[in-house]
Amino acid sequence: MQDIHLNKIAVDPVNLPIFSDNNISADVLRLDKIHPLISGNKWFKLRYYLDEAIQEGKKRILTSGGAWSNHILAAAAAGQLYGFKTTGKIRGEEPAELSPILQQAKAMGMELVFMSRENYGRERRFIEKKRVDLDSSKDLCAIPEGGCGIKGAEGAATILEHCTKENYTHICCAVGTGTMTAGLARGASLTTTIIAVSVLKNNPEIEKIIHALLPGSSYEKRIRLLHDYHFGGYAKHKPELLDFMNEFYRQTSIPSDFVYTGKLFYAITDLAAKKYFPTGSRLLLIHSGGLQGNSSLDKGTLIF
Ligand SMILES: *Cc1c(COP(=O)(O)O)cnc(C)c1O
Repeated sequence: MQDIHLNKIAVDPVNLPIFSDNNISADVLRLDKIHPLISGNKWFKLRYYLDEAIQEGKKRILTSGGAWSNHILAAAAAGQLYGFKTTGKIRGEEPAELSPILQQAKAMGMELVFMSRENYGRERRFIEKKRVDLDSSKDLCAIPEGGCGIKGAEGAATILEHCTKENYTHICCAVGTGTMTAGLARGASLTTTIIAVSVLKNNPEIEKIIHALLPGSSYEKRIRLLHDYHFGGYAKHKPELLDFMNEFYRQTSIPSDFVYTGKLFYAITDLAAKKYFPTGSRLLLIHSGGLQGNSSLDKGTLIF
């Protein structure tokens, strides 16, 4: 298993007329480059859980997620990289054919346990509370779904050690569980606004979740949660989004994924066109990875 390469993280300027015409600048922080499977923000959210598991001599990582979860894939790969056995509790009944992500997770040795949605909900809460299987729990490191916990947010805060954060007025990211958003708010300078683009259609809990991951309300005040760029919902897409991703790649050589970063980049260019950002704004867009998810699209859909 390939190691994590933090030294590959780059800050790429995005030279698009839509930004220069509006007197703003944008850079992309390329977390997608650190590892092909433990992609982007997932390693940052896992890192402190893994540190603790190593220190406490745990043998197995237990976590949960859906069949298309980048977190499950990252946990499976991290297990292989750091020498843990892994178990993934997977939401829903076992399908006739595993999703590409589950196939890869299984190939990396992850034990997959499929659960009905109802049982899954209960199990997920157990994992969150670390009340896992009492007999074996001293060997188990339980990581909440999506790395969504304080340790996950603290890990995500260290993303900003890989850029000069004071250079930016706005830090922009995609939102799934909200863990990365909370981490960026913890790690950013006090005057920075966090633009957080939700990729889910109905996500009424998200404010509460982010609140729980932050040490005080002064952090939340700096977050702008945007709910209008989900393109139909989680992992849904439209031709307009895929066309945009191709065009963005043509002009910047930066690839994106259709679940998260494509929607983020679309949102930010759309907001720039609508003059959302004040003149002189300097934006940092977080490329949180996820490119392997594009493999579920028909071949030839994307030009990269
Ligand atoms: C998981 C993921 C996100 C969302 O991160 P959260 O911390 O769950 O909000 C964003 N981008 C990519 C590529 C991801 O895989």
